[in-house]
Amino acid sequence: MKNKILGKEFDQLIESLSKFPSIGEKTASRLALFLMKNPPNLTLEIAKSMVEARKKVRTCKMCNNFIFDKDPDCSDKSCNRLSGARDLRTLCVVENMFDLISIENSGEYNGQYHVLQGLLSVSKGIKPEDLKINHLINRIKKNKFNEIIFATDPTNDGEFTAQHIKEQIQVYCKKISRIAIGMPLGSELDYIDKNTLAKSLIDRRKM
Ligand SMILES: [Zn+2]
Repeated sequence: MKNKILGKEFDQLIESLSKFPSIGEKTASRLALFLMKNPPNLTLEIAKSMVEARKKVRTCKMCNNFIFDKDPDCSDKSCNRLSGARDLRTLCVVENMFDLISIENSGEYNGQYHVLQGLLSVSKGIKPEDLKINHLINRIKKNKFNEIIFATDPTNDGEFTAQHIKEQIQVYCKKISRIAIGMPLGSELDYIDKNTLAKSLIDRRKM
């Protein structure tokens, strides 16, 4: 969008903001205007927290969860940073960090996580090796989980992924469950409110 009134700096800002997921040009313009009309310190504060968080984040080699600078990596037994009062014997398998945060915010889960960083997909050509599913299987082999919960989306790819992994881990864990699909079929976890998600965890069914 060329903006003759506000100039190329404004255009550049809109272009940068449009790179965020779900942010179209219109929302990007709104965000840019919001920054322009507020004191410069606010922009500096936002930019600084973005750069700092991005600089310090790492991905745990074991569970693919985000960890920051001083957080320890996961041990072979469990995710250190989630230990303590948490249930070390339950594992929840999610597609991405966003879903992990949604489940955390539902307040209905207190166990460990494994982040796949994607879903298996025949149509998109995403194979088990792309998602390092061996890491997950090894983790399950080493730990005696009482329950493994699949919280992948109720889409074709989400179902396929859960089913594929389940077949390889059922010898290592007796209780394998799937979040209840009271959620509309084909919907994605991102769009489900936290009460519905909490209920789908409570009502999880055995696979
Ligand atoms: Zn970890």
